[in-house]
Amino acid sequence: MIRYSIIHEKNPREILLLRGKGCRWRKCTFCDYHFDCSDDENANLNLNREVMSEVTGIYNHLEVINSGSFVELGEQLLIELAEICREKAIYTLHFECHWLYRNSIPRWREIFAKHGTTLKIKTGVESFDYNFREKFLQKGISEKNPAKIAENFNECCLLFGLTGQTEESMRYDIETGLKYFERICVNIFVKNSTPLVPDEKVIEIFTRKIMPDYADNERVDILLNNTDFGVGGENNE
Ligand code: SF4
Repeated sequence: MIRYSIIHEKNPREILLLRGKGCRWRKCTFCDYHFDCSDDENANLNLNREVMSEVTGIYNHLEVINSGSFVELGEQLLIELAEICREKAIYTLHFECHWLYRNSIPRWREIFAKHGTTLKIKTGVESFDYNFREKFLQKGISEKNPAKIAENFNECCLLFGLTGQTEESMRYDIETGLKYFERICVNIFVKNSTPLVPDEKVIEIFTRKIMPDYADNERVDILLNNTDFGVGGENNE
């Protein structure tokens, strides 16, 4: 599996795919992404140390993803990562985090700040339509108010390409995301091992009518394929 990549375009940064103990939530109906995990902390540490050793600091900007939330990478690994950030002059570090860990975030912001690194925490909101998100996607965000969701996070992911979504609903999600978060990342649903299937009509509406309006927006990432950031995929670890 490819675990290190550099994004040279929009928001240039290095990106790492690390392995942790796995997503604690594991209930999102669209997700089979939590397979990349292990309970063997030492094996994770060894693998992750190797991946982290590739960081050069070329853009002073790093994104770390894992199949779940960054806190699931463990204390030891996060402390080592903070040291690497100091050594390589990483001033901005992006992590992903589920809503259920929102109260752990301030402590990690402080720890990384002491190493000169500002954390930008991204959370998968997927949709601001509460019923769609919680009843259909089972995302596990108990808060309805987008402003309150955003209190703990800097960035959010949205998921498009599912039956029931419309041009209006997708535009609402994007505009709400841009109103309350610094950046948004739109993921287009790709067929995976869950029973959900991409709705090609919805995807066509997104790519033809909506995408052109946001393609050049510096605050918007659009992933038509979930390996578009250059990590993940089928290669060897
Ligand atoms: S929180 Fe993330 S990793 Fe966990 S089940 Fe949901 S989408 Fe998958």
